[in-house]
Amino acid sequence: MKCSYDLHIHSALSPCAERDMTPQNIVAMAKLKGLGAIAVTDHQSCANCAALIGASRDLAGPVVIPGLEIESAEEIHLLCLLPGLTEALQMQRIVQAALPPRLNRPDIFGGQQLLDRHDRLVGEETRLLLQACTLDCQTLAGHALGLGGVLIPAHVDRDAYSMLQTLGAIPGDFPTAWLEFSSPGAARDCLRHHPELAGYQMLYNSDAHRLGAISEPGFSLDLPDGAVGEQALRHAVLQALRPC
Ligand SMILES: [Zn+2]
Ligand SMILES: [Zn+2]
Repeated sequence: MKCSYDLHIHSALSPCAERDMTPQNIVAMAKLKGLGAIAVTDHQSCANCAALIGASRDLAGPVVIPGLEIESAEEIHLLCLLPGLTEALQMQRIVQAALPPRLNRPDIFGGQQLLDRHDRLVGEETRLLLQACTLDCQTLAGHALGLGGVLIPAHVDRDAYSMLQTLGAIPGDFPTAWLEFSSPGAARDCLRHHPELAGYQMLYNSDAHRLGAISEPGFSLDLPDGAVGEQALRHAVLQALRPC
């Protein structure tokens, strides 16, 4: 069966995201658009994922995959998706233990809001999330795979924070079968310059920082027909994205 997805969305915990990127709003917009699976991947944190999962249960929305967008020591953005909240929180602990202890300056970078499933503000993350951790890509991949998750180079077609731009290539030993692109057009352009990437599978996500940017249901993953219900769907999405 086909499952339409948008697996890279930021909530109001990311200082660069709009304030109305709340759990209820994100779920309602994804449901309105007809998406089957979404992931909320804030910078270096999965602290709003439980609220997103709760909001989606309340609103009968799409399945929510817990995750985070990690910035590695090389200043490369990586989409990290995990099978459950426990594993996501473990990954967050690993990443945040490797974050320099700089505090956020909301007046400069924006707020980092912690929200509950009813969109109530329950706190502010004080540690600056918009900074690289001290772990490199390969080390992070080892942790993500060890927790049953995946680590996929994010927006490789862009100039900033892209593995392709930063390293000049996707290292052959980096354990992924997938690369994230901004759009099919961006992927085609990129492949013209990097034909060696033709063997990778392509994931198209919005990287939405505002509600209107969440994907239309144009892209889908092939999942087994038996994947019904939250747990089974989450497992099937992760299986589909595993390195071969
Ligand atoms: Zn990014
Ligand atoms: Zn992002």
